[in-house]
Parts: sequence; structure tokens; C-alpha cells
Amino acid sequence: MVKILQAEEQLKHYFGYSQFREGQQQIIEQILNGHDSIGIMPTGGGKSICYQIPALLLPGITLVLSPLISLMKDQVDALGEVGIPATFLNSTLSKQEELQRLSQIKEGQCKLVYIAPERLEQHSFLTFLDELEISLVAIDEAHCMSQWGHDFRPSYLRISTWLNQLSIKPSVLALTATATEDVRRDLQQHLNVNDENVFITGFGRENLMFQLVKGADKWRYVERYIQNRANEAGIIYASTRKEVELLYERLNKKGLRVGMYHGGMGEQLRQKHQDAFIHDKTTIMVATNAFGMGIDKSNVRFVLHYNLPKNIEAYYQEAGRAGRDGEVSECVLLFSAQDIRTQSFFIDQSDLQGERKSQEYEKLQQMVAYCHTEMCLQQYILRYFGDVADESCGKCSNCNRSGEKINRTKEAQMVFSCMKRTRERFGKTIVAQILIGSENQKIKQFDLNQLPTYGLMKNWTQKNLAAFIDYLSAEQYIKPTGSSYPTLQLTEKALFVLKGDEEVFQNEIQTDDAPKQQDDVFEALRVCRKELADAQNIPPYLVFSDKTLRQMSQFIPITLEELNEIQGVGEQKLQKYGESFLTVLQTFEEKKPAGDIRPPLDTPKAKSSSGKKGSYLETVTLFGEGLSVTDIAKKRQFSEQTILNHLIKAYQEDESLNLQQYVNDEKRHLIESVANEVGTEFLRPIKEQLPEEVTYQEIRFVLGK
Ligand code: ADP
Repeated sequence: MVKILQAEEQLKHYFGYSQFREGQQQIIEQILNGHDSIGIMPTGGGKSICYQIPALLLPGITLVLSPLISLMKDQVDALGEVGIPATFLNSTLSKQEELQRLSQIKEGQCKLVYIAPERLEQHSFLTFLDELEISLVAIDEAHCMSQWGHDFRPSYLRISTWLNQLSIKPSVLALTATATEDVRRDLQQHLNVNDENVFITGFGRENLMFQLVKGADKWRYVERYIQNRANEAGIIYASTRKEVELLYERLNKKGLRVGMYHGGMGEQLRQKHQDAFIHDKTTIMVATNAFGMGIDKSNVRFVLHYNLPKNIEAYYQEAGRAGRDGEVSECVLLFSAQDIRTQSFFIDQSDLQGERKSQEYEKLQQMVAYCHTEMCLQQYILRYFGDVADESCGKCSNCNRSGEKINRTKEAQMVFSCMKRTRERFGKTIVAQILIGSENQKIKQFDLNQLPTYGLMKNWTQKNLAAFIDYLSAEQYIKPTGSSYPTLQLTEKALFVLKGDEEVFQNEIQTDDAPKQQDDVFEALRVCRKELADAQNIPPYLVFSDKTLRQMSQFIPITLEELNEIQGVGEQKLQKYGESFLTVLQTFEEKKPAGDIRPPLDTPKAKSSSGKKGSYLETVTLFGEGLSVTDIAKKRQFSEQTILNHLIKAYQEDESLNLQQYVNDEKRHLIESVANEVGTEFLRPIKEQLPEEVTYQEIRFVLGK
């Protein structure tokens, strides 16, 4: 218990968070009590803190094994930002740098040391480790240890061999976000961990909104989508290099700040694009699935899949790169049936044999089924991973279907009969051209303008009709054949429609073109963050996460004490960046919300944080004794604003608190009547209607009720 209280103190001091998340506390408790553990938490679940906090409390060093060399610098920089001494050893360092670091470690200057497991194969390094006091070994991305994992690395097996050779065994913590039942059992076996020391917090990511868009004109969708998200960081995944380049060029032409990444680019160029994205110099990254592993950028607000991914694992991993900071983020998948072919082709061309190959086809089928399911999308994914998800998320496109279904039976019949009359010999473009009555040369050449279905849908544009045909494919009425020029074939389902036995309904297509409201406080904070980050050449999210900026923009702290209450503002960052952010925030004081301004904690299951709880009551007592706000502030060494907040809180909770001393009745009535007139959403309009001498503090005080 004492240990966990100490751990909580460290969490607040260094990271600025008031409480542990689900799983974190149990894992940390186990580690501090010397029990080896396995933690399975989703991306963004907060795995790093599970070993970073014990590292601070345990003697000696914590060795962190991670396969992602590119992430190590970032992680060490992030720890440096909050004041925790850490370092890494990997192949990017010069010999001299390495020697320097080794001696720092030896001298006890580092609490955490990040290495790749391959280093455990160097005899000289093992000898070096022998002389150190290692209290904890944290194995990040631990699924790499299992042959069943999607990313097995033989070097990971070296870890357990090394651990077994040690005379004094450190505690071991294995962490991963992706563990199927098989992987988990494998890990337990390798590390000898009992069931009761395995902590699984579930795969759900509450802040992700899954959207599925079928049968839309993809490019137009992207255009509009991006237009409404001017400053937001996002990744667009496409399945081929060619498509990535095409999208990149088109977005670039529109003057957007865009980068691209695929395996065919030179290493240096790729790195350049990646750095620009991480440092918020570009906002959009168009990429193949080669991009993302080893990227820790926490403020990715959307991940848009331009094409169908190969399976749900890949999809969840890629989409899951959105919203690592816990802020609401979108994962959009643009589905067209044609993409199934591309993925089948990849499987076909792969080196996989026999059962593994058919397994991949099956997985692809389940990916396609995701695009057809009517159930909650988040739930579908969780069930795929064997997670129990009883409730629908209420946020995905399936949960939020407008309910408006348009009957498209007649139009579908026209498409089907056109296909039938042309004996299913043509692809989407020709079918659409026949139906809209196109004058195209090819149509005439094949006498297709003589067909009775020619011009049957002349009130449609070719583009819209092609999108409708895509929709019919997505709903499995039509099956594109597998060739480089796919022709369309009718499925049995379509025949029922043709006979009039079944009807076709289409949901209103969601294009999400409602312009998003810009939050000018957030934007100003973002600019401030970027300037501070650029000056130090670090990624902006290392200064503060989007989530922290969002809280600032909602609660507008204007003193250091208030800023310290924002989740994510620890001691070192408060000192380092506090004044810069306050300067920005103070210019928005009139937007400060009235009433209880305490920022909410990270999770709804808030526990009372020890000690500080009754702080505001002390203010109330002093106030009752007749001290002024200024006097109380001086006496308690708080800002006047904090004292005022205490009183507002007390007033909300206890009406008998006498306000008279602070705001007299006359002023109070005046404020109340203006507030009734102009509303209480913002303070400025109220202030403008009142005499000069009424202060913002007084208004806030009265409205606090
Ligand atoms: P993971 O490694 O599981 O993907 P991280 O360790 O990168 O996740 O944490 C994701 C985000 O959540 C980070 O911004 C981190 O600072 C934040 N976080 C972690 N623990 C807490 C907590 N107890 N309260 C609030 N935020 C937290």
C-alpha cells in the first residue's frame, strides 16, 4: 500500500497524472513486490509507465528491451523531458558515444537503459551487465518472443536464456498490445509466469471512432475529409506504392502539407518525410503499411485507409496509431470490392505455402466481412481478438447509422439487367457508361448503344453510378472477377433481386463534410507548443500531448497552480514550459468557463487522491473567519484564482456560504440579470454588459452557483 502511494506520488511529480489507469496499478504493485508479470494492454493503454515508475522506486537500473531502435531515442527524450535520467545503446551510436554512455551507466547516472535484444548476444556486453545492479528487466513488444506472434524475432529467445544464467535474477515485466491466447501462453512458458500475474486490460480503445465508408468516390471523400481537418495530423494508408505516390501528388498540388512513405523510396528520403511528420512540419502522411512501426507520435487524429488492409490484425494495428494520447480520433476505412483482388493478389504472390496461405485467405475474408457487418465495428474487432465486448461502442458508423435507408431496388435491377444483357462480359466503367447513355467511342463500336438498357439511368452521373456499383459489390450482389481488368458477375443474391423476391436498401452515404469547429485556444496552444519543440528540435508531442493541450483549452488555467492541475503537467514541464503556456492562456481569460473548473481525471473511476482533498475546506474556514481572498492567497501561498476556485466549489456544494462579503447583493443581482439575458456559456459577453468595476472573478463567483 505504502509502495503504491509512493508510486502515485512519482506519477504526479514526473508525469503530471493524478492516478493510475486500469492495469497499471496492479502491474506496478506486482513488480514492486518482486513478482514477474505479463501485461497485455492496448496501444495507448499506458504500458511504458508500468516499468518507468518502478524504475524510479527500485535500486539500480531498469533494462528495457525493445525491438524498435527508431523509438529508443524518442522514449529517452520523452523521459528527459519529465526529468527522468535514461539512455539507450544501439547501432546508431558512434563507438565514442557508446563508451561514454557505458561509463554513465556504470556510474549510476541512468535509471533506465534501452537496448535491442540482439545486444544480449555480445559477450562483452553481458560481462558489462554482470557488474550492474539490475532490478527490473522490461520486455517491450513481448509478442516478438512467440513463434505464434505476427512479428516473431529469434533474438527475443535470447532474453530468457540470459535471464536463466543470472545469479541474481531481476524482476521481469513483459508487455505487449497484441496477444492472442497462443502468444500469451507462449510468453508465460518462456518467462515462467503464473496465471495470476498476467494482467489483461482488454483490447478496446474507447477514444477511437471506427467509420466504414462504402461505395463513395474515394478521392472526393479524401478531399473533403482533409479540408475539414486543416491542422490535424493524420495517416492515409494505401496498399500500393503507385497509389501512395498518386495520392501524395494530388494532395501536394492542393497545397496541403503532406509527406509520403513507402518501401521503394531511398532510406534518406523516407527518413526526411517521417521526421517532418513527427515534428508536425507536415500534417498528412500518405503511406503503405511500411510506415508506422516504431512511430510513437501520440497526436495522430485520424487514420484513413484508402484501401482494404490484408486482415483485421493489420487493420487494428495501423488504425490504432490514431489517438495514442487518448483523445478522440477517427479510423476511416474506404471500402471498394476491387481492393479484395489486390489483397488476394498479394497473398497469391507471397512465399506462403499450403495451410499458411489458406489461413491468410481466411483472414482476408474476415476483413471483408468487417466491411459487410451490420454490428458495432469496435465490437466486431474485439470479438475477432477473442475479447468479450458486450456493449456496442455507440460511436462507430454502424452504431450511428441514420436509420434513413433509401430503397434502391429499381436502380439495382437496372444495373443487374444491364450486366445480364451483356452476359457479364464487362467491367464497372462500361456498365455505367451503357446505363447513363454515354456517347463514348467504345460504346458505339460494340453497338452497346443498341441495348434496351442503354440510357436507362441517364439522370445519373457516371461517377455516382460507378460508386453505386461499388456499393452493390460491397453488399455482395456483384462479384468482380479476379483479373487485371475485372468484369462484373452477378451473385445469387442479385438474382433474387432481379426476380423481385428481395429488395435493396442503401444507407445514406456518410461523407462527413460538416465543417469542424475550430478551437482558437487550442490552435494558439498548438502554435506555442510547436515553437518550443522546434527550438529544441524535439517532436511537439513530447512537450505536451494533444490531450493535455485540449484540457488547457477547456479549462484555461491562468496560474501555475491551475496549470499544475491539468493532466500531463508534471513538475519539470511546469517549470520549463509553464510560463510560456500561461502567457497564451491568459489572453483567453474571458473564455474561462464559469463554475467548477477542476479538470477531469484520466479515467472516470476517480479515486480520491490522498492528502489534498480537504484543501478547499481550509480556504472556506478562513473565508468564514472574515479573511479576504487576497489575504487567504497570501496565507496559503496559492494564487487568488485558486482561492476563488475553492470558494466557488464550496458555494456550489453548500448554499449557506455567505457570499455577501465577496460580492455584495447589488452586484450579484446585476450579474445575474445580465447572465439571464446573454447566457452563461462565455464570460466576455456578460462582462461587456456590466459596469467596468465588476471583475471577471466576481462574475465567475456568482455564476459558480
Ligand atoms: P502504450 O505504450 O501502451 O502504447 P504509452 O505508454 O505510450 O502507451 O501511453 C499512452 C499515453 O497515455 C501517453 O501519452 C501517456 O503519457 C498516457 N498515460 C499513461 N498513463 C497514464 C495515466 N495514468 N493517466 C493519464 N495518462 C496516462
